[in-house]
Amino acid sequence: MNPRASWRFLNAMGMFRSVLVERTCEHCGESKTFEIQFKTGFDSCETYKLGELVAPDEGLHADQTYKGCIDRFCDSCIREWAVDRQSAMRESMAQLVEANWLQVRNKGSEHWLSAGELRTGKMDASSAQPWEEDSEEKEPSIFVMASDVHFDLVWKGVEVRFPNDAGREFDRELEERIDRVLRDQGWPSGRDFVQRDLLVYLDEDYRIRVA
Ligand SMILES: [Zn+2]
Repeated sequence: MNPRASWRFLNAMGMFRSVLVERTCEHCGESKTFEIQFKTGFDSCETYKLGELVAPDEGLHADQTYKGCIDRFCDSCIREWAVDRQSAMRESMAQLVEANWLQVRNKGSEHWLSAGELRTGKMDASSAQPWEEDSEEKEPSIFVMASDVHFDLVWKGVEVRFPNDAGREFDRELEERIDRVLRDQGWPSGRDFVQRDLLVYLDEDYRIRVA
């Protein structure tokens, strides 16, 4: 999945149901409660515990499986990943500026940023603070910080527009570099979206299960 999409992507698509499950975070190894989100088409945010007895309803049938998704990392690791991804993006853009492939400036600014300014976060202040400190629920702003929304970009002499060839080439180069930086920092899945797909179903006793 494109990491620019919301990491709670089902959420953005309207109603869904949830199954709460104890699971080990794939990054820190701690056991935490994870939320599996799935849709049946007739949902109003029902929340179940794994193994709970559930009466079938117009959306949830005993003879059907439903595609669900679960975060691979716990919330604090996702936060850490998002912050690291943010700095990987800064570092990657700085490298591209150093290579003279890229020019970057904040939207509305006349000043093209140097590699040093990119590294020290002299970008848009909002992008330097991917999380608001006092809000546990806040999603990382990294997913709305699409580079084309916040910056004017020139790639190898051509103004970047999405989708144009310069935009596509810049995007590919940037994402490859971000991926490398993240892997070097100990995120084996790199920039990949940190969710897994699985199946939700009712077993013959009408207990909710996942596979
Ligand atoms: Zn974790």
